[in-house]
Amino acid sequence: MRIGIPKEIKNNEFRVGLTPESVAELVASGHSVVVESGAGLGIGAEDAAYEAEGAEILATAEAVFEAAEMIVKVKEPQPEERARLRPDHLLFTYLHLAPDPAQTEDLVKSGATCIAYETVTDAAGGLPLLKPMSQVAGRLSIQAGATALEKAHGGRGVLLGGVPGVAPAKVVVIGGGVVGFNAARMAVGLGADVTILDRSLPTLERLELHYGSSARCLYATQAGLAKEVAEADLVIGAVLVPGAAAPKLVTRDMLSTMQPGAVLVDVAIDQGGCFETSHATTHAEPTYEVDGIVHYCVANMPGAVARTSTYALNAATLPFAKALADKGWKQALKDDAHLRAGLNVWDGKITNVAVGAALGLDA
Ligand code: NAD
Repeated sequence: MRIGIPKEIKNNEFRVGLTPESVAELVASGHSVVVESGAGLGIGAEDAAYEAEGAEILATAEAVFEAAEMIVKVKEPQPEERARLRPDHLLFTYLHLAPDPAQTEDLVKSGATCIAYETVTDAAGGLPLLKPMSQVAGRLSIQAGATALEKAHGGRGVLLGGVPGVAPAKVVVIGGGVVGFNAARMAVGLGADVTILDRSLPTLERLELHYGSSARCLYATQAGLAKEVAEADLVIGAVLVPGAAAPKLVTRDMLSTMQPGAVLVDVAIDQGGCFETSHATTHAEPTYEVDGIVHYCVANMPGAVARTSTYALNAATLPFAKALADKGWKQALKDDAHLRAGLNVWDGKITNVAVGAALGLDA
């Protein structure tokens, strides 16, 4: 199959659909790959790195779309990319169609076959192509929080791990799923005093088994949460209620109980945020202060580490991309119900029930 990798054009997107190493695996399986010149620069991969693995470099996105049968991307196609899609194209990328009727309409009109990373499932009922980005965001949340705790960034001037003779910082992680587990891992690794709160007993059991005595795992009652937050140097918001806006677990009133210069990192900001005082920020200006408490609420945290994020995403997407290329999409979807769950648009129709329901359309 002829596979195309255009350069990502969404504002501030530095990731790329396939790394040179992924290209090498596809070429070794007999496929040809065309890459837009400069597509890998955001992760430090020059055109020559792709050529060395057998890809052909094309000067424009237009030429890539023209030449390719399957397009592998990261972000949802932007309007000019959507205009280039044809009925014989297979598109494999994040789509997030539910809140985006304009994109949905264009994809339906294009006649292309569109498989969305975010609705591909796994045997455990998880979303394996979303998981790597939650892992990145969870780990990054502690780095972001540690930086924000520094005096120069408005924080209370506390080092997460302390030093001999000085107590470590108190880190409270609300929500112990993928983000929370990875945040706790970093915080424990740095020597912080870590508490994780969740409402799911099976999750608390898993966390307790993993962390043993190096983190406290507590059931998240509102009173218990308020007490932990009041004493915290750094609070990580990592809750998710599937299909709903994040619950506001830290209220504005609670800020006055906190220590001045303490830091809130709201990873759940992409679902509206789990702190009442959160609003989305950007990597250019990641923090702001409310009532003396520093807030970090960047909605696309993985973008800050585009290279790690691209490699993490490829580790999850490559087996699926390879199956689609090796077998053709019809056979690949027939063979794998989890990949089939990724099919969002086909032959001018929406094929994902949840997406159709969210848009008030039949699927
Ligand atoms: P997850 O489903 O793995 O974990 C969420 C956890 O929250 C679950 O364990 C659940 O039991 C817990 N929870 C739900 N309600 C709770 C409550 N009231 N109190 C305590 N715990 C509660 O989800 P995840 O992959 O860890 O994602 C967490 C959030 O991070 C999501 O909103 C996701 O979209 C977001 N996210 C943001 C970025 C970013 O760049 N900002 C990147 C990746 C993920």
